[in-house]
Amino acid sequence: MLSNSKLGFGLMRLPKNIDGIIKQEEVNRMVDAFMNAGFNYFDTAYAYAGSEAAMKTALVDRYPRENYTIADKLPAWKLSCKEDVKRIFDESLKLSGVDYFDFYLLHSIEESHYPTYLKYDCFEFIKEMKKEGKIKHIGFSYHDNAELLDKILTAHPEIEFVQLQLNYLDWENGVVQSKLNYEVVRKHNLPIVVMEPIKGGILASFPTEIEALYKNYLPNSSVASWALRYIASLDGVMTILSGMSNEEQMNDNLKTMTEFKALDDYEYQLIEDVKKKVLSFPTVPCTKCRYCVPGCPLHIQIPDLFTAYNSAMTYGHDRRYTKYYDAHTEGEHQTASACIGCGQCEGVCPQHINIIEELQAVAKEFD
Ligand code: SF4
Ligand code: SF4
Repeated sequence: MLSNSKLGFGLMRLPKNIDGIIKQEEVNRMVDAFMNAGFNYFDTAYAYAGSEAAMKTALVDRYPRENYTIADKLPAWKLSCKEDVKRIFDESLKLSGVDYFDFYLLHSIEESHYPTYLKYDCFEFIKEMKKEGKIKHIGFSYHDNAELLDKILTAHPEIEFVQLQLNYLDWENGVVQSKLNYEVVRKHNLPIVVMEPIKGGILASFPTEIEALYKNYLPNSSVASWALRYIASLDGVMTILSGMSNEEQMNDNLKTMTEFKALDDYEYQLIEDVKKKVLSFPTVPCTKCRYCVPGCPLHIQIPDLFTAYNSAMTYGHDRRYTKYYDAHTEGEHQTASACIGCGQCEGVCPQHINIIEELQAVAKEFD
């Protein structure tokens, strides 16, 4: 049903210049490459700063509407009254330059956001928009445990698809619960849109000795391709979103998915071997979604500090990581040790990371 595209273009981490401005020309070229390869699913959100407008310029203004599908999302954390629901929905339509969405999701449902969606009748709202033809298919993205997911899907039989964080590193993770959530959605017979198959880039590069496990077997395949193939080998997956940030990533993902080959038993075992080694590093499972950044009163560039920390924990200390850390703690951007523990960031983190505690570890390494 719904989409003929196994690979979806996630528009959350678009290429940006040093001032944080989206590189529109590069986005246009990436959209062209994606469309030319025969894919058509684009995933944006009101909460992805600048994404809807960049998509409009690259896609909506340049291709016939019937040639692609768009998914957009309503963010619970930006709702402070019932009127905000329609206001944000209309704004998203306008920013995207379309008069309907093929897919519309309640963004990032988890225990703390679910009551907001109920309080402001958001399930009713998306059903109504579907009746009016402004949404073709309704769903939600999900970041919590399998028990709550089962409860929500039972209470809302109108839901047509679910977007889940699935990847091989999180498959048995007790917090993300990839496998358990996957089983719940399968039980409800709904198609799955997969997010974070490469875990925000974490599964795209490892220390040389770990990468060698993959490279010795398939020298011409990227490390990221193993993560995509793992997910694409699952039943019930409608679309796999990859948040591509440059043309190189786009070309690599297109190659993997146009020449797709399901994993065999030996390849599953290789992934298990890699996983075991990667899980032994004391890293922070940050996917760089940046939801935590705008609310920090000290302008701490949380995901960038975690990137520096994770690199040092994985590859060993190196001046490059200190330089990276220093570059992200300049001007108004405070260091990890400046954190006042207000908890703003933890309230919006879909990965449920103990950010305050982890920042203390970062501070110990770098400050
Ligand atoms: S807890 Fe620390 S990092 Fe998080 S928002 Fe507050 S000051 Fe910023
Ligand atoms: S710490 Fe959490 S909210 Fe912040 S960028 Fe990482 S995953 Fe996203």
